[in-house]
Amino acid sequence: MKKRAGLSLRKRLLCVTLVPILLFGIIIIACSCNQLAKSVHKEVESGLKNVAQSAIYMLEKEFQGEYILDSGTTGIFREESKAETAREVLEKLKEISGADITIFLEDTRVVTTIHNEEDKPIIGTKANAVIIRDVYKGESERFYSETSINGQDYFAYYCPLYNSQKKCIGMIFAGKPSHYVSGIVLEGVLPIVTIIVLATLAMSVIMWQYSVRLTNAMKNLQNFLMKVERGDFTAELGEIVEERKDELGRIGRSALQMQCALRELVEQDSLTKLYNRHYGEIWLKKVIEESAGKNSAFSVAIADIDFFKKFNDNYGHDCGDLVLRKVSNIMRKNMKRQGCAARWGGEEFLLVFSDKGLDKSLEETQRIADKIKSLRISYGDKELGVTVTIGIIEGDPRRNMDELIKAADRALYEGKESGRDRVQVGVLKADAVSG
Ligand code: GH3
Ligand code: MG
Ligand code: MG
Repeated sequence: MKKRAGLSLRKRLLCVTLVPILLFGIIIIACSCNQLAKSVHKEVESGLKNVAQSAIYMLEKEFQGEYILDSGTTGIFREESKAETAREVLEKLKEISGADITIFLEDTRVVTTIHNEEDKPIIGTKANAVIIRDVYKGESERFYSETSINGQDYFAYYCPLYNSQKKCIGMIFAGKPSHYVSGIVLEGVLPIVTIIVLATLAMSVIMWQYSVRLTNAMKNLQNFLMKVERGDFTAELGEIVEERKDELGRIGRSALQMQCALRELVEQDSLTKLYNRHYGEIWLKKVIEESAGKNSAFSVAIADIDFFKKFNDNYGHDCGDLVLRKVSNIMRKNMKRQGCAARWGGEEFLLVFSDKGLDKSLEETQRIADKIKSLRISYGDKELGVTVTIGIIEGDPRRNMDELIKAADRALYEGKESGRDRVQVGVLKADAVSG
């Protein structure tokens, strides 16, 4: 069969489970970052608004709107000492709120808590055009999430500043550096990211283990089926499949039953439940090979029911079948732990004694023949008896199967000739030894 290249089942399983989990994780992280950033920005906005309004309130309280707006002036107060007081007010507010505050005269910073690299307040610098247009000229409060002041990005809140005549003379700025706000967002997001990463890792480990168990069980089942396909009916299905309670376990158990059914079909004779001739031959060949390897003894016998035809002729075919089954049962039971009993054909049987020399095999064969003879078979109102004639020879691993069978068959013929109901020992013809 042509092999199709592609991902293994394990990799595919991991892909179909982990990819959605990862995507889900990424979406959750992105959404929560976005949400958190939004709410932090909102909080910062309202915080800065408070700071800006507090600054206006505190300045109002201190100066009652006595600000000047003369062309050519660089200060908002006529006296420098008042500017100093205003700076102190702003510094105090910065200490409490952590926000920088600036007073603008029109578009120019005249008092500020923001310092440059030389630690000088950045007074005299101007606000950008958009802010001037919106806040100073438009006289409305505005929040900006990104405005650059002295080379640094700020979250900023601007309010118009009025003097006692209710004339807009400048602006109040309250702001916090962007990196400070990003830090808050990051702090909030970090636990969420950690939880999601840990959850994804845990899911990955669980899925990995699950897919390893599943694919191992599937491989096991596949190996088992391949062995059965090659005709290995002794192949065992591993516990990792047999003990599963799911569909795979059920498939495995069905495969086991299929193996049994196939084995019966291929190896068993349906009438007698003995091995069939095909399997008897396989068995005998295997014993010959093993004997050659281990230099161990073995024996081969052919049994034939005496006057079997009479059962058929006198009582019918069913009676013949019953006799065959009864005789077969005795052979199967008695050969169980010492070799193989197979139906060779009709009312003939092959007995192979593995690891047993002629003496012991002869004893066993005689015992089987005696048991058959003592058998009473009830058929209708009749009690029937049956005998067998058996020809037996000592095996020789240098001979092939046919030679051994022929020799046992010759002994069987001799047994029949000399009166039946006996076990006849035969010999292998010496000149036939090859090699
Ligand atoms: P002998 O002692 O010389 O072996 O005589 P026999 O009657 O046993 O041998 P024979 O070869 O004359 O007859 C064997 C009969 O077995 C012939 C055949 O119809 C019958 N037979 C073969 N297979 C079956 C079977 O599966 N069922 C039944 N009922 N009869 C079978
Ligand atoms: Mg016969
Ligand atoms: Mg016969």
